[in-house]
Amino acid sequence: MSKPRVAIFDFACCEGCQLQIVNLEEEILDLIHVVDVVEWREAMSEQSHDYDIAIVEGSITRHEDELRLEVIRSRCKILIALGACATIGGVNKMKNNFDLNDVKECVYGKDAKMPHLNTDMTKAVDEVVPVDAYIHGCPIDRKEFGTVIRALLLGKRPPVPDYPVCVECKAKENVCRYEYNEICLGPIIRAGCGARCPSSNFRCFGCRGYVDHPNVEAAKEVMDKYGLTVEDLKQKMILFGSKQGHTL
Ligand code: SF4
Ligand code: SF4
Ligand code: SF4
Repeated sequence: MSKPRVAIFDFACCEGCQLQIVNLEEEILDLIHVVDVVEWREAMSEQSHDYDIAIVEGSITRHEDELRLEVIRSRCKILIALGACATIGGVNKMKNNFDLNDVKECVYGKDAKMPHLNTDMTKAVDEVVPVDAYIHGCPIDRKEFGTVIRALLLGKRPPVPDYPVCVECKAKENVCRYEYNEICLGPIIRAGCGARCPSSNFRCFGCRGYVDHPNVEAAKEVMDKYGLTVEDLKQKMILFGSKQGHTL
């Protein structure tokens, strides 16, 4: 039986999630035994139009990128969104809060009007084409990458948690960041990172995006307890924005 052919593509991003794949070390050798990687700009020079699984990193910020993504979607059976830029638009979505001409001028100064520096509102991958699986985080968790790929190869639905980071955080017996007068997004953000930030004495800043049905009432109770409001919580979600339709 031939191995599934995998291609990895990047759009607007820092490529840090691809770097996490490169850093898989021994596990990458296991994965390479069960798939054929046919295109991966960061790690090889070969290219192919013939693949079963497309892994897409980065957010979509230009019309021409939408067209490129649509072609990738038409060529693959399974499309995986890799990392926060792809799954929720990531930090790139911050620019949607401003006039795009102002954003360009701020970044490129007097060159902002050059035609190749065109830019549109940032979109997550699933705002352009259907996505079959998500690997959340900024950057992604290496172990979760392996878990999702293995599940898909077995024809199973990848196990992505739909409960908040607080569940993992409490299991680790961390002292809650609210006790340090910080606003932590853990009550409304999707778990799966092992509460990476609170376990390192940082608040959760939302990189895995909202759980599918954020429990706003429970979040409000936490806010009330510490003399804060849900509005204060939403302010802290600015870094990772939110997908359309996934607002509190
Ligand atoms: S999700 Fe974060 S680490 Fe991954 S490509 Fe985007 S900015 Fe980089
Ligand atoms: S609010 Fe943050 S620090 Fe507190 S339990 Fe939840 S994830 Fe942990
Ligand atoms: S704790 Fe929050 S910000 Fe940190 S990795 Fe997990 S989801 Fe991302």
